Amino acid sequence: MRAISNAANYFAGGTLDRVAHRRRDDAWLREAMAASETRLLPFWQGKHLVHGPREAPRPAHIPATATWWRELLTADPVFLGLADGVAHFALDLSALPDPAQAAPLSALGAFVDLRSLSASLDPVSGNLLAVGRGLLLWHQRHRFCAVCGNPTRVENAGHSRRCVDKACDAVHFPRTDPVVIMLITDGDRCLLGRQPRFPPGFYSCLAGFVEPGEALEDAVARESFEEAGVQVTDITYQSSQPWPFPASLMMGFHARATTTELTVDGEELEEARWFERGWIRAHAGTESFMLPPRSAIARSLLDSWLYKP
Ligand SMILES: [Zn+2]
Repeated sequence: MRAISNAANYFAGGTLDRVAHRRRDDAWLREAMAASETRLLPFWQGKHLVHGPREAPRPAHIPATATWWRELLTADPVFLGLADGVAHFALDLSALPDPAQAAPLSALGAFVDLRSLSASLDPVSGNLLAVGRGLLLWHQRHRFCAVCGNPTRVENAGHSRRCVDKACDAVHFPRTDPVVIMLITDGDRCLLGRQPRFPPGFYSCLAGFVEPGEALEDAVARESFEEAGVQVTDITYQSSQPWPFPASLMMGFHARATTTELTVDGEELEEARWFERGWIRAHAGTESFMLPPRSAIARSLLDSWLYKP
């Protein structure tokens, strides 16, 4: 049975049953890999294979009955779980120089970046591809043991790696890096900032990585002060969002400012401003004032405050 949650953010939720107890069941995995209904989802250099119309793309998969993909494989297939009872595996084909030239593959669809798909891909597929992306990027970046430097090999159907050195034998698990993201408010206005990489006119919530030995609430307070010079209180959790770009888990908070003078650090943020609620409602979506897309938790935090009953 799949655990049911009330996750509301894009990339979260979904219908994938991870059936973790099957990851060490080699006979079951072999059978699943060979079943005709099984779906093999190709991944190439950070992109997923999709097909269908641009406004409603669908994940494309290699038929499990095909064998040509085996020689294109960069690493072992990763078992994602069952969706509607059907086994799903992610395949890393990143070593291919140009998948558009690989005939059986190019006939199935085109490789597209997941972030750009989030506006059009249905949320269930969005979750499925996010799981695959997070796992495969982790494998690409953890081929060597962080303890002793020897190579590691895949085990647990792609959900851990073990050092090949028998004396070391360290096991490494997929990483998820916690990031706090917060909407800071002061009465009827909220604080939004611009990172230097943002397109002109684009504003979002403040955010930052949680550091070792730090609680989430402490990270919210520290980042608010470091990035904008603002002190906050009443820090309350709202929701979370997997963000496999490459390995973040966004944890969304609301916080109330106790100081309002802004001091921008100039590095992480190039600008921070207080915006009135009514002004945002009137101007959001215009060329000079853009907010994060609805698929981003930053927008969910903002909307929950902007349209609070
Ligand atoms: Zn080792």
